[in-house]
Amino acid sequence: MKLIRHGSPGLEKCGVILSDGRRLDVSVAFPNYDETFFASDGVNRLHAWLEDAGSSAPTLPDDVRLGCPIGRPSKIICIGLNYRDHAEESGMTPPSEPVIFFKATTAITGPNDGLHIPPDSQKTDWEVELAVVIGRVARRVTEADAMNHIAGYVLHNDYSERAWQLERGGQWVKGKSADTFAPLGPWLATPDEIADPHKLRLWLRVNGVEKQNGTTANLIFRLPHLIHYVSHFMTLLPGDVISTGTPAGVGLGFKPPQYLQPGDLVELGIDGLGTQRQVAHATF
Ligand code: ZN
Repeated sequence: MKLIRHGSPGLEKCGVILSDGRRLDVSVAFPNYDETFFASDGVNRLHAWLEDAGSSAPTLPDDVRLGCPIGRPSKIICIGLNYRDHAEESGMTPPSEPVIFFKATTAITGPNDGLHIPPDSQKTDWEVELAVVIGRVARRVTEADAMNHIAGYVLHNDYSERAWQLERGGQWVKGKSADTFAPLGPWLATPDEIADPHKLRLWLRVNGVEKQNGTTANLIFRLPHLIHYVSHFMTLLPGDVISTGTPAGVGLGFKPPQYLQPGDLVELGIDGLGTQRQVAHATF
């Protein structure tokens, strides 16, 4: 199943995309796709409700705005340098253990809402990523049990201000957390939709020119290990997001580097997880 949230920013309602492509509003029965929803077997309840009452659910108009498909998660954890070619283009050694950092949840925005380049930013950059959404509380889970804790998968553009991330000292979180730096969506695909999350092509274009074209087959640390590893250090709650890293082709890696300017168009996608489209705007 594909879960969507639709409507005005901050007031999104729940919906689904059926296998025949129809999009339904299910907000009469499901107020939000949030921690409570996932923790209470929400996806199975949603399946049952659709069988029972789905024919009464309103169809959504084609032009409805889509927001992030999950209600504000307790945290976004990002994995750094998880593709060898990206580590090399960044001038860094591929890590022997996963690099993890936080991204502020206030950075979340809809998949097509647009990017606001912060007013004093010179180095705003893109990163197409496969993100995992947690479905069950995960605390020190084993690799063997890790995949049972996934609610689904979502496309993420891990926007990054490289000067703030790399030149200002301290932790990467500073360069990852500006408003609109975390477009998520258009939908959350439940695991039955994705035959093998380690065989997905992911790509990104700027102004129609391909910049990134990779495959999750090249992840250094795969999903079972990432969930196991992160849950060793912190409890993962239903709805939490783990973004698994980006392949080569970010702006930082070009010689000279390429960074986003107002008016640029960023398009990205992952097999089975749809596409996003962001126009970059200056922020005043
Ligand atoms: Zn990233």
